[in-house]
Amino acid sequence: MMAGDGLLVRVRPPQGRLAVTQAIALAEAARLHGNGLIDLTNRAALQLRGVTEQSHGPLLRQLVALGLADADPAREARRNFLLAPDSTPGDDSESIALGLIAHLDDLPQLPSKIGIAIDAGPAPCLAGVPADFRFERSQAGALLLRVERRPMGSPTSVETAASDLIALARWFLATGGAASGRAARHGAPLPMAAEMAPAPSRALSQVLASASGPFHAVPFGQIDADGLIALTRKRNVAALRLTPWRGLVLEGGAQRAGHAPPDGLLRIDACPGAPACPQASVETRGLASRLAPLVEGSLHVSGCAKGCARQGTAQLVLTGRQGRFDLSRNARAGSPPEKTGLTARQILALFGRP
Ligand code: SF4
Repeated sequence: MMAGDGLLVRVRPPQGRLAVTQAIALAEAARLHGNGLIDLTNRAALQLRGVTEQSHGPLLRQLVALGLADADPAREARRNFLLAPDSTPGDDSESIALGLIAHLDDLPQLPSKIGIAIDAGPAPCLAGVPADFRFERSQAGALLLRVERRPMGSPTSVETAASDLIALARWFLATGGAASGRAARHGAPLPMAAEMAPAPSRALSQVLASASGPFHAVPFGQIDADGLIALTRKRNVAALRLTPWRGLVLEGGAQRAGHAPPDGLLRIDACPGAPACPQASVETRGLASRLAPLVEGSLHVSGCAKGCARQGTAQLVLTGRQGRFDLSRNARAGSPPEKTGLTARQILALFGRP
């Protein structure tokens, strides 16, 4: 994908984790082939930023050699999985993921945004994360496979997960799902009985408390190569597990009290802004950090009307335009503004900073 600062290369490590050696090699590749900045996405993937046309090929070859990408682009496109971040080696989430990878060639090619949440812990934890087909557990502890926006799922098992997903993917395509693009927008009758409800979702703090190491929050979901390497050097860290919550679980690392991301981390979005992105005429993340304690609810500071950092609406939106900001409420970046031409200082004053 092309972004303001060059190509974005998305990396989806199998089983959602990077061994220490992979994390260090990935960070060095981000520095060598890109601008060294790495995004953590809301689907628990990584994005290497600032990759050039020339460095794209060598980077892909290195990712394949590291076991972080499939050499076959069609298989790579099908492997759009997201695992519960408290999954552990050998548990049902990991077993389902491995089974799906083994049957990737049988999975039909779905629209590029279609994602599969493998959320087979004691109760779901990924309900708020975008996905189209979800492996979850019922309150009675049984595994189910559910289509997004349908309240009920169908029984499945670790052994039949791959064939059940393949059947659902075929149904999706055969009933015109490709035109809808996402399962949530596809209203065709399901091909099998769906009578199992998922258990109530676990709280984020509960999920992170059961993860195999402390949660390390990453402001605005962006870390640089040096920062990623520094995490691998923390005491006893054996791997970095990806999460969709702007942070990483440091597997094996020393546990600390408190497991939830700091307040504000998940309610505030800001794209890289100026000077990182050539489309931006304003600095974004410094203003977002200073505004965070002054505003309640969701906040989106966007370098321009494109709104890369947040697709949906936020309660307060500041969109950069010609070196100043437009202010909107309950809107997306670039929506008709309530106020225009504001400086950062005027915005801070508006929210009570003298
Ligand atoms: S929204 Fe931000 S990152 Fe996206 S193009 Fe605009 S300035 Fe660049």
